[in-house]
Amino acid sequence: MTQNLFTQAFASGTRIYSEGGQGDIAYVIQSGLVELTSNNEEGPVTLDVLTKGQLFGEMSLIDNAARTATATAIKDTVLTVISREQFKERLNNTEPMLRMLVRVFIARYRLSFSQTADAEHNSQLNSPLPDDAMSEETQLLAIGKFRQENELREALKNEELQVHYQPLLNLKTGVWAGFEALVRWNHPTRGSIPALEFISLAEETTLIIPIGLYVLRQACKDLIAIQKERSRVIPDAPPLFVGVNISSKQLAEIDFIERIVEIVKEIGLHPSNIKLEITESMTVDYEFVVKWVNRCKELGFSLAIDDFGTGFSSMEHLLELDFDTLKIDQAFIKKMHQNEKAMKLVKGIVNLSRAFGYSIVAEGLETEQDVDTIREMAVEYGQGYHIGKPQSVEDILEQVKNAV
Ligand code: C2E
Ligand code: CA
Ligand code: CA
Repeated sequence: MTQNLFTQAFASGTRIYSEGGQGDIAYVIQSGLVELTSNNEEGPVTLDVLTKGQLFGEMSLIDNAARTATATAIKDTVLTVISREQFKERLNNTEPMLRMLVRVFIARYRLSFSQTADAEHNSQLNSPLPDDAMSEETQLLAIGKFRQENELREALKNEELQVHYQPLLNLKTGVWAGFEALVRWNHPTRGSIPALEFISLAEETTLIIPIGLYVLRQACKDLIAIQKERSRVIPDAPPLFVGVNISSKQLAEIDFIERIVEIVKEIGLHPSNIKLEITESMTVDYEFVVKWVNRCKELGFSLAIDDFGTGFSSMEHLLELDFDTLKIDQAFIKKMHQNEKAMKLVKGIVNLSRAFGYSIVAEGLETEQDVDTIREMAVEYGQGYHIGKPQSVEDILEQVKNAV
């Protein structure tokens, strides 16, 4: 056998590992043939013959138990080596639920194996899965997520999800230009839970699809009520818009555009009253996003690139995606008065947006100084706690009645 850190070569007839031994390496066959055998009362029984590209020896890496078979090269064979550390690193980076599933499947496999094979020989294979530090934590995480997902599903059914509206101020005229719809979970025991705490779970599952459609429908209905009240108070007021957050998982849903068009039509709004806020994600095929954005534009929706400058909402996307609005992320706004570079960055983004013909929203305006600075840059819209916190439609209507 020749070996280095990553590959090992075995001459035909050489044993790679033995049944019952401890294993801390798994293998993928680069070339050659490997036979897996197991001993019973009559002698060795062939379990499988593996060829190029197949993985073996992985189970011992996961549950620390003894090898359940003997592996022998039956031709000259070259193997890629996978260490326990490499395997664990990958496994630990996956969904807790998947990790739990892997453990459950291995436990079941070992159990069925030990029931069919010779009991004395396999007594050690019946040992429970090791209680390594990750195991319990992983189980709790996985179960916790399942429970939360079920709770969230119920919440949607029981109408515990509420849409709040954060005003966007037209910084030139000083009147509200529109709102951003932000979902809240009105939990029966935990009170109001912000989106940040459950949207990522909704995005990991398919729940974001019905939640997104629910928010859109509610936002359309509430905008009509707000618009009606405002026209009564200020007859010549320009129309308001509502921004609705769209996650990448929704973009990937085949008939998503048709469904939003249906809802907007059914409720009686024009698509230009809806601003779809997109935070780009690498998980969605970029070409697909370009098509999606173009289609929404054709249909008359207004489009905003959200959280610009952070994560995946990057410069590259400005080249091909045709947005109407760019939202400067609050992270930069927060720092602009303490950090000269942050101020330059905000000014730079404003100039860039203007050159591209986008309207600009500065997010996270928390102080009067923030609002003044942004207004001096001739930014069109401001959003943040200093202008107004996200609030219920009833509270918004009350303020509209008092002619904001
Ligand atoms: P976002 O789209 O960037 O929304 C703005 C977030 O910043 C909101 O948090 C809002 O409450 C908060 N915020 C607004 N002004 C200020 C301020 O002056 N200071 C500070 N510190 N925060 C401010 P929220 O409601 O917890 O939402 C978090 C994120 O969850 C949103 O970020 C959005 O990405 C997502 N989200 C919210 N509602 C929905 C929804 O209906 N669908 C989808 N797909 N995502 C949503
Ligand atoms: Ca947003
Ligand atoms: Ca944002």
